Amino acid sequence: MVKETKYYEILAVSPDATEAQLKTAYKKGALKWHPDKNNDNPEAAEKFKDLSHAYEVLSDSQKRGLYDQYGEEGLEQGGMGGGMAAEDLFAQFFGGGGGGFGGMFGGGMGGGMRDAGPRKARTISHVHKVTLEDIYRGKVSKLALQKSVVCPKCDGRGGKDGAVKKCAGCDGRGMKTMMRQMGPMIQRFQTVCSDCNGEGEIIRDKDRCKACTGKKTTIERKVLHVHVDRGIKSGTKIEFRGEGDQLPGAEPGDVVFEIEQKPHARFQRKEDDLFYHAEIDLLTALAGGRLHIEHLDERWLVVDIVPGEVIAPGSIKVIRGQGMPSYRHHDFGNLYVQFDVKFPESLPGPTGMPPMSDADRAALERILPPRAAADKKPPADAMTEDFSLEEVDPAGEQARARGMMSDDDDDEMGAGGERVQCASQ
Ligand SMILES: [Zn+2]
Ligand SMILES: [Zn+2]
Repeated sequence: MVKETKYYEILAVSPDATEAQLKTAYKKGALKWHPDKNNDNPEAAEKFKDLSHAYEVLSDSQKRGLYDQYGEEGLEQGGMGGGMAAEDLFAQFFGGGGGGFGGMFGGGMGGGMRDAGPRKARTISHVHKVTLEDIYRGKVSKLALQKSVVCPKCDGRGGKDGAVKKCAGCDGRGMKTMMRQMGPMIQRFQTVCSDCNGEGEIIRDKDRCKACTGKKTTIERKVLHVHVDRGIKSGTKIEFRGEGDQLPGAEPGDVVFEIEQKPHARFQRKEDDLFYHAEIDLLTALAGGRLHIEHLDERWLVVDIVPGEVIAPGSIKVIRGQGMPSYRHHDFGNLYVQFDVKFPESLPGPTGMPPMSDADRAALERILPPRAAADKKPPADAMTEDFSLEEVDPAGEQARARGMMSDDDDDEMGAGGERVQCASQ
Protein backbone atom coordinates (compact mmCIF):
# COMPACT_ATOMS: atom_id res chain seq x y z
CA MET A 1 0.00 0.00 0.00
CA VAL A 2 1.43 3.38 -1.00
CA LYS A 3 1.35 6.40 1.29
CA GLU A 4 0.24 8.92 -1.31
CA THR A 5 -1.29 8.55 -4.79
CA LYS A 6 -1.02 12.16 -6.02
CA TYR A 7 1.78 11.54 -8.54
CA TYR A 8 -0.01 8.50 -9.87
CA GLU A 9 -3.19 10.50 -10.26
CA ILE A 10 -1.35 13.23 -12.17
CA LEU A 11 -0.16 10.63 -14.62
CA ALA A 12 -3.57 8.92 -14.54
CA VAL A 13 -2.13 5.49 -13.77
CA SER A 14 -2.64 3.10 -10.91
CA PRO A 15 0.01 2.84 -8.18
CA ASP A 16 1.08 -0.53 -9.51
CA ALA A 17 1.76 0.80 -13.01
CA THR A 18 4.73 -0.69 -14.82
CA GLU A 19 7.62 1.38 -16.13
CA ALA A 20 6.21 1.11 -19.64
CA GLN A 21 2.80 2.28 -18.51
CA LEU A 22 4.38 5.28 -16.81
CA LYS A 23 6.26 6.16 -19.93
CA THR A 24 3.18 5.95 -22.10
CA ALA A 25 1.19 8.05 -19.64
CA TYR A 26 3.88 10.73 -19.46
CA LYS A 27 4.26 10.82 -23.22
CA LYS A 28 0.53 11.30 -23.70
CA GLY A 29 0.24 13.99 -21.06
CA ALA A 30 3.40 15.88 -21.97
CA LEU A 31 2.39 16.22 -25.58
CA LYS A 32 -1.06 17.39 -24.56
CA TRP A 33 0.03 19.95 -22.00
CA HIS A 34 3.31 21.19 -23.46
CA PRO A 35 3.34 25.02 -23.31
CA ASP A 36 4.09 25.31 -27.01
CA LYS A 37 0.78 23.66 -27.75
CA ASN A 38 -1.06 25.74 -25.18
CA ASN A 39 -0.19 29.35 -25.82
CA ASP A 40 -1.26 31.70 -23.04
CA ASN A 41 -2.67 28.93 -20.91
CA PRO A 42 -1.08 29.12 -17.46
CA GLU A 43 -3.12 26.14 -16.32
CA ALA A 44 -1.56 23.94 -19.01
CA ALA A 45 1.93 25.15 -18.11
CA GLU A 46 1.27 24.17 -14.50
CA LYS A 47 -0.05 20.77 -15.51
CA PHE A 48 2.99 20.21 -17.73
CA LYS A 49 5.28 20.97 -14.82
CA ASP A 50 3.42 18.69 -12.42
CA LEU A 51 3.33 15.91 -14.94
CA SER A 52 7.04 16.15 -15.56
CA HIS A 53 7.82 16.19 -11.87
CA ALA A 54 5.59 13.21 -11.21
CA TYR A 55 7.15 11.24 -14.01
CA GLU A 56 10.64 12.18 -12.96
CA VAL A 57 10.02 10.75 -9.51
CA LEU A 58 8.11 7.63 -10.50
CA SER A 59 10.46 6.66 -13.32
CA ASP A 60 13.37 6.53 -10.88
CA SER A 61 13.08 3.36 -8.82
CA GLN A 62 14.88 4.87 -5.84
CA LYS A 63 12.71 7.96 -5.77
CA ARG A 64 9.58 5.94 -6.40
CA GLY A 65 10.44 3.74 -3.43
CA LEU A 66 10.81 6.75 -1.17
CA TYR A 67 7.60 8.28 -2.44
CA ASP A 68 5.59 5.11 -2.03
CA GLN A 69 6.82 4.69 1.51
CA TYR A 70 6.87 8.26 2.81
CA GLY A 71 5.10 10.45 0.23
CA GLU A 72 6.36 13.84 -0.95
CA GLU A 73 7.77 14.55 2.47
CA GLY A 74 10.01 11.53 2.14
CA LEU A 75 11.48 12.83 -1.09
CA GLU A 76 12.28 16.21 0.41
CA GLN A 77 13.94 14.64 3.44
CA GLY A 78 15.89 12.30 1.22
CA GLY A 79 17.28 15.31 -0.59
CA MET A 80 15.48 14.32 -3.72
CA GLY A 81 13.17 17.24 -4.18
CA GLY A 82 13.86 19.83 -6.85
CA GLY A 83 15.00 17.71 -9.72
CA MET A 84 15.16 18.53 -13.30
CA ALA A 85 13.32 21.36 -15.05
CA ALA A 86 10.22 20.17 -16.85
CA GLU A 87 11.49 21.42 -20.21
CA ASP A 88 14.81 19.60 -19.83
CA LEU A 89 13.09 16.36 -18.99
CA PHE A 90 10.87 16.78 -22.00
CA ALA A 91 13.87 17.43 -24.24
CA GLN A 92 15.64 14.39 -22.84
CA PHE A 93 12.58 12.30 -23.41
CA PHE A 94 11.57 13.42 -26.86
CA GLY A 95 14.72 15.00 -28.18
CA GLY A 96 17.54 13.09 -29.79
CA GLY A 97 18.95 12.20 -26.39
CA GLY A 98 19.11 8.54 -27.31
CA GLY A 99 16.95 7.25 -24.48
CA GLY A 100 13.45 5.89 -24.32
CA PHE A 101 11.19 6.84 -27.17
CA GLY A 102 13.73 9.10 -28.83
CA GLY A 103 13.76 7.06 -32.00
CA MET A 104 10.03 7.24 -32.41
CA PHE A 105 10.02 10.95 -32.80
CA GLY A 106 11.52 11.68 -36.17
CA GLY A 107 14.18 14.34 -36.33
CA GLY A 108 14.24 15.22 -32.65
CA MET A 109 16.03 18.51 -32.44
CA GLY A 110 17.61 18.28 -28.98
CA GLY A 111 16.66 21.33 -26.96
CA GLY A 112 19.00 24.11 -25.93
CA MET A 113 21.77 24.69 -28.44
CA ARG A 114 24.27 26.55 -26.39
CA ASP A 115 27.28 28.27 -27.85
CA ALA A 116 30.65 26.95 -26.83
CA GLY A 117 33.33 29.54 -26.22
CA PRO A 118 33.19 33.26 -26.91
CA ARG A 119 31.10 34.32 -29.86
CA LYS A 120 32.86 35.68 -32.88
CA ALA A 121 31.41 37.53 -35.83
CA ARG A 122 31.67 35.85 -39.20
CA THR A 123 34.82 36.00 -41.30
CA ILE A 124 34.60 37.95 -44.53
CA SER A 125 36.38 35.94 -47.22
CA HIS A 126 37.31 37.30 -50.58
CA VAL A 127 39.28 35.93 -53.51
CA HIS A 128 41.72 38.54 -54.77
CA LYS A 129 42.64 37.87 -58.39
CA VAL A 130 45.99 39.20 -59.49
CA THR A 131 47.98 39.05 -62.71
CA LEU A 132 51.28 37.26 -63.05
CA GLU A 133 52.83 40.68 -63.70
CA ASP A 134 51.57 41.88 -60.29
CA ILE A 135 53.11 38.85 -58.63
CA TYR A 136 56.37 39.31 -60.52
CA ARG A 137 56.73 42.93 -59.49
CA GLY A 138 54.76 42.94 -56.24
CA LYS A 139 52.11 45.52 -55.44
CA VAL A 140 49.72 46.84 -52.85
CA SER A 141 46.04 46.47 -53.66
CA LYS A 142 43.59 48.80 -51.98
CA LEU A 143 40.42 46.84 -51.47
CA ALA A 144 37.22 48.33 -50.13
CA LEU A 145 34.69 46.27 -48.23
CA GLN A 146 31.35 46.87 -46.58
CA LYS A 147 31.24 45.66 -43.03
CA SER A 148 28.95 45.86 -40.05
CA VAL A 149 30.17 47.96 -37.16
CA VAL A 150 28.64 48.33 -33.72
CA CYS A 151 26.34 51.36 -33.95
CA PRO A 152 28.26 54.32 -32.52
CA LYS A 153 25.07 56.19 -31.60
CA CYS A 154 23.59 53.59 -29.25
CA ASP A 155 26.78 51.62 -28.54
CA GLY A 156 25.14 48.53 -29.98
CA ARG A 157 22.16 48.54 -27.61
CA GLY A 158 19.62 49.23 -30.35
CA GLY A 159 17.81 51.93 -28.41
CA LYS A 160 17.77 54.18 -25.39
CA ASP A 161 18.95 52.81 -22.07
CA GLY A 162 16.29 50.55 -20.62
CA ALA A 163 14.21 50.52 -23.79
CA VAL A 164 15.37 47.08 -24.82
CA LYS A 165 13.35 44.28 -23.21
CA LYS A 166 13.90 40.56 -23.27
CA CYS A 167 11.27 38.90 -25.48
CA ALA A 168 8.71 37.07 -23.36
CA GLY A 169 7.58 34.84 -26.21
CA CYS A 170 10.87 32.97 -26.40
CA ASP A 171 12.48 33.99 -23.14
CA GLY A 172 15.15 35.83 -25.09
CA ARG A 173 16.31 32.77 -26.99
CA GLY A 174 14.98 33.95 -30.35
CA MET A 175 13.76 30.43 -31.08
CA LYS A 176 10.63 28.57 -30.07
CA THR A 177 10.10 24.85 -29.89
CA MET A 178 7.10 23.71 -31.90
CA MET A 179 5.48 20.33 -32.31
CA ARG A 180 3.70 18.90 -35.28
CA GLN A 181 1.73 15.68 -35.47
CA MET A 182 2.61 13.65 -38.54
CA GLY A 183 0.52 10.49 -38.51
CA PRO A 184 1.71 8.48 -35.52
CA MET A 185 4.83 10.62 -35.18
CA ILE A 186 5.26 13.83 -33.29
CA GLN A 187 7.85 16.05 -34.83
CA ARG A 188 9.48 18.56 -32.60
CA PHE A 189 11.27 21.41 -34.28
CA GLN A 190 12.70 24.83 -33.61
CA THR A 191 11.32 27.87 -35.26
CA VAL A 192 12.26 31.53 -35.23
CA CYS A 193 10.27 33.42 -32.61
CA SER A 194 7.70 35.54 -34.41
CA ASP A 195 7.31 37.99 -31.53
CA CYS A 196 10.85 39.26 -31.83
CA ASN A 197 11.86 37.91 -35.28
CA GLY A 198 14.53 35.85 -33.63
CA GLU A 199 16.17 38.82 -31.94
CA GLY A 200 15.29 37.65 -28.45
CA GLU A 201 14.58 41.28 -27.64
CA ILE A 202 11.76 43.75 -28.10
CA ILE A 203 12.29 47.47 -28.59
CA ARG A 204 9.35 49.81 -28.84
CA ASP A 205 9.41 51.69 -32.13
CA LYS A 206 9.68 55.11 -30.53
CA ASP A 207 12.68 54.02 -28.49
CA ARG A 208 14.60 52.61 -31.40
CA CYS A 209 17.98 54.09 -32.18
CA LYS A 210 17.61 56.34 -35.22
CA ALA A 211 21.06 55.56 -36.56
CA CYS A 212 20.69 51.78 -36.75
CA THR A 213 16.88 51.44 -36.51
CA GLY A 214 17.42 49.10 -33.59
CA LYS A 215 19.65 46.72 -35.54
CA LYS A 216 22.62 47.62 -33.29
CA THR A 217 25.03 47.74 -36.17
CA THR A 218 25.54 50.01 -39.13
CA ILE A 219 27.35 49.42 -42.40
CA GLU A 220 30.71 51.03 -42.89
CA ARG A 221 33.05 51.14 -45.87
CA LYS A 222 36.56 50.14 -45.06
CA VAL A 223 39.63 50.15 -47.28
CA LEU A 224 42.28 47.55 -46.60
CA HIS A 225 45.77 47.52 -48.07
CA VAL A 226 46.59 44.05 -49.27
CA HIS A 227 50.28 43.43 -49.88
CA VAL A 228 50.74 41.24 -52.90
CA ASP A 229 54.36 40.35 -52.24
CA ARG A 230 56.73 39.47 -55.02
CA GLY A 231 56.51 35.78 -55.82
CA ILE A 232 53.46 35.17 -53.65
CA LYS A 233 51.84 31.81 -54.37
CA SER A 234 48.33 31.42 -55.68
CA GLY A 235 46.16 30.24 -52.78
CA THR A 236 48.06 32.22 -50.14
CA LYS A 237 45.69 33.66 -47.55
CA ILE A 238 46.26 37.13 -46.21
CA GLU A 239 44.45 37.65 -42.94
CA PHE A 240 43.29 40.84 -41.28
CA ARG A 241 42.38 39.85 -37.76
CA GLY A 242 39.43 41.68 -36.25
CA GLU A 243 38.83 43.79 -39.37
CA GLY A 244 35.64 41.94 -40.30
CA ASP A 245 32.08 42.40 -39.12
CA GLN A 246 31.37 43.61 -35.63
CA LEU A 247 28.51 42.38 -33.49
CA PRO A 248 27.53 43.65 -30.08
CA GLY A 249 28.91 41.35 -27.41
CA ALA A 250 31.04 39.33 -29.79
CA GLU A 251 34.62 39.31 -30.94
CA PRO A 252 34.92 41.09 -34.30
CA GLY A 253 35.34 38.79 -37.28
CA ASP A 254 38.38 38.54 -39.55
CA VAL A 255 38.86 39.42 -43.17
CA VAL A 256 40.69 36.90 -45.31
CA PHE A 257 41.90 37.54 -48.84
CA GLU A 258 42.90 34.54 -50.87
CA ILE A 259 45.34 35.34 -53.64
CA GLU A 260 44.37 33.80 -56.94
CA GLN A 261 46.66 34.18 -59.90
CA LYS A 262 44.90 34.82 -63.17
CA PRO A 263 45.99 32.66 -66.10
CA HIS A 264 48.60 34.33 -68.26
CA ALA A 265 48.63 34.53 -72.03
CA ARG A 266 52.36 33.83 -72.45
CA PHE A 267 53.64 32.13 -69.34
CA GLN A 268 52.65 29.23 -67.18
CA ARG A 269 53.95 29.23 -63.66
CA LYS A 270 55.04 26.19 -61.70
CA GLU A 271 56.28 27.23 -58.26
CA ASP A 272 59.08 29.69 -59.05
CA ASP A 273 59.63 28.56 -62.61
CA LEU A 274 58.04 29.93 -65.74
CA PHE A 275 57.22 27.95 -68.86
CA TYR A 276 57.06 29.49 -72.29
CA HIS A 277 56.12 28.09 -75.68
CA ALA A 278 58.19 29.42 -78.55
CA GLU A 279 57.37 28.74 -82.13
CA ILE A 280 60.36 28.93 -84.43
CA ASP A 281 60.69 28.16 -88.10
CA LEU A 282 62.69 25.27 -89.48
CA LEU A 283 65.43 27.54 -90.76
CA THR A 284 65.99 29.03 -87.29
CA ALA A 285 65.86 25.57 -85.76
CA LEU A 286 68.58 24.37 -88.14
CA ALA A 287 70.61 27.42 -88.99
CA GLY A 288 70.15 29.56 -85.89
CA GLY A 289 68.48 32.92 -85.38
CA ARG A 290 66.97 35.06 -82.71
CA LEU A 291 64.04 34.65 -80.32
CA HIS A 292 62.31 37.55 -78.52
CA ILE A 293 60.42 36.93 -75.29
CA GLU A 294 58.38 39.69 -73.68
CA HIS A 295 58.91 39.32 -69.95
CA LEU A 296 56.63 40.33 -67.06
CA ASP A 297 58.34 43.63 -66.23
CA GLU A 298 58.39 45.28 -69.66
CA ARG A 299 61.81 43.83 -70.52
CA TRP A 300 62.29 41.83 -73.70
CA LEU A 301 64.65 38.91 -73.56
CA VAL A 302 66.66 38.53 -76.74
CA VAL A 303 67.72 34.92 -77.07
CA ASP A 304 70.26 33.80 -79.63
CA ILE A 305 69.89 30.38 -81.18
CA VAL A 306 73.29 29.20 -82.27
CA PRO A 307 73.52 28.10 -85.91
CA GLY A 308 73.84 24.35 -86.20
CA GLU A 309 72.68 23.70 -82.62
CA VAL A 310 69.48 22.21 -84.13
CA ILE A 311 66.35 22.69 -82.03
CA ALA A 312 64.15 19.60 -82.26
CA PRO A 313 60.36 20.03 -82.11
CA GLY A 314 59.20 19.69 -78.48
CA SER A 315 62.68 20.16 -77.01
CA ILE A 316 63.03 22.27 -73.86
CA LYS A 317 65.84 24.71 -73.06
CA VAL A 318 66.33 26.81 -69.95
CA ILE A 319 67.20 30.44 -69.33
CA ARG A 320 68.51 30.52 -65.78
CA GLY A 321 67.26 33.10 -63.29
CA GLN A 322 64.48 34.45 -65.51
CA GLY A 323 61.61 32.75 -63.70
CA MET A 324 59.56 34.20 -60.86
CA PRO A 325 61.11 35.88 -57.84
CA SER A 326 60.95 33.36 -55.03
CA TYR A 327 58.67 34.42 -52.20
CA ARG A 328 60.64 36.06 -49.37
CA HIS A 329 63.96 34.86 -50.80
CA HIS A 330 66.28 36.86 -52.96
CA ASP A 331 66.60 34.59 -55.92
CA PHE A 332 64.63 33.67 -59.00
CA GLY A 333 63.35 30.52 -60.61
CA ASN A 334 64.15 29.54 -64.19
CA LEU A 335 62.46 30.21 -67.47
CA TYR A 336 61.93 27.04 -69.48
CA VAL A 337 61.32 27.42 -73.18
CA GLN A 338 59.64 24.65 -75.08
CA PHE A 339 60.01 24.82 -78.84
CA ASP A 340 57.50 24.17 -81.52
CA VAL A 341 59.22 23.99 -84.90
CA LYS A 342 57.11 25.16 -87.76
CA PHE A 343 57.93 23.26 -90.92
CA PRO A 344 57.49 24.94 -94.29
CA GLU A 345 54.42 23.94 -96.26
CA SER A 346 56.62 23.10 -99.24
CA LEU A 347 60.05 23.88 -100.55
CA PRO A 348 59.90 25.97 -103.69
CA GLY A 349 61.34 24.63 -106.91
CA PRO A 350 62.46 26.79 -109.84
CA THR A 351 58.88 28.01 -110.44
CA GLY A 352 58.13 28.64 -106.80
CA MET A 353 56.37 25.28 -106.49
CA PRO A 354 57.57 21.71 -106.03
CA PRO A 355 59.47 19.86 -107.23
CA MET A 356 62.61 21.51 -105.88
CA SER A 357 65.65 21.96 -108.03
CA ASP A 358 68.28 19.25 -108.21
CA ALA A 359 70.87 21.73 -106.89
CA ASP A 360 68.79 22.53 -103.78
CA ARG A 361 68.17 18.88 -103.15
CA ALA A 362 71.84 18.13 -103.48
CA ALA A 363 72.60 20.94 -101.02
CA LEU A 364 70.18 19.54 -98.46
CA GLU A 365 71.55 16.05 -98.97
CA ARG A 366 75.01 17.38 -98.32
CA ILE A 367 74.04 19.28 -95.15
CA LEU A 368 71.55 16.93 -93.50
CA PRO A 369 72.30 13.43 -92.22
CA PRO A 370 71.68 10.77 -94.88
CA ARG A 371 68.26 9.15 -95.29
CA ALA A 372 67.76 6.51 -92.68
CA ALA A 373 68.44 3.06 -94.04
CA ALA A 374 66.22 1.49 -91.45
CA ASP A 375 63.15 1.75 -93.66
CA LYS A 376 61.56 -1.64 -93.96
CA LYS A 377 61.93 -2.94 -97.51
CA PRO A 378 59.86 -5.72 -99.02
CA PRO A 379 61.63 -9.03 -99.71
CA ALA A 380 63.11 -9.33 -103.22
CA ASP A 381 60.41 -11.75 -104.42
CA ALA A 382 57.43 -9.71 -103.12
CA MET A 383 54.71 -8.39 -105.45
CA THR A 384 54.92 -4.59 -105.53
CA GLU A 385 52.59 -1.86 -106.71
CA ASP A 386 53.37 1.88 -107.08
CA PHE A 387 51.45 4.71 -105.39
CA SER A 388 51.81 8.43 -104.81
CA LEU A 389 50.54 10.58 -101.94
CA GLU A 390 47.58 12.90 -102.27
CA GLU A 391 46.57 15.88 -100.19
CA VAL A 392 43.93 15.24 -97.61
CA ASP A 393 40.80 17.39 -97.88
CA PRO A 394 40.07 18.34 -94.23
CA ALA A 395 36.37 19.14 -94.87
CA GLY A 396 35.81 15.77 -96.51
CA GLU A 397 37.61 13.93 -93.70
CA GLN A 398 35.52 15.70 -91.07
CA ALA A 399 32.31 14.79 -92.81
CA ARG A 400 33.50 11.18 -92.98
CA ALA A 401 34.26 11.20 -89.25
CA ARG A 402 30.84 12.68 -88.43
CA GLY A 403 29.09 10.15 -90.59
CA MET A 404 30.90 7.28 -88.88
CA MET A 405 30.21 8.59 -85.42
CA SER A 406 26.50 9.16 -85.79
CA ASP A 407 26.18 5.78 -87.47
CA ASP A 408 26.64 4.21 -84.02
CA ASP A 409 23.91 5.99 -82.15
CA ASP A 410 21.45 6.76 -84.89
CA ASP A 411 19.93 4.00 -86.93
CA GLU A 412 17.11 5.92 -88.53
CA MET A 413 19.12 7.35 -91.35
CA GLY A 414 20.78 5.42 -94.13
CA ALA A 415 24.29 4.03 -94.29
CA GLY A 416 27.30 6.17 -93.42
CA GLY A 417 28.25 6.60 -97.06
CA GLU A 418 25.02 8.44 -97.90
CA ARG A 419 25.45 10.79 -95.01
CA VAL A 420 28.92 11.81 -96.13
CA GLN A 421 27.47 12.95 -99.39
CA CYS A 422 24.76 14.94 -97.65
CA ALA A 423 27.15 16.59 -95.25
CA SER A 424 29.70 17.59 -97.83
CA GLN A 425 27.22 19.28 -100.18
ZN1 LIG B 1 22.10 52.46 -32.90
ZN1 LIG C 1 11.06 36.13 -29.03
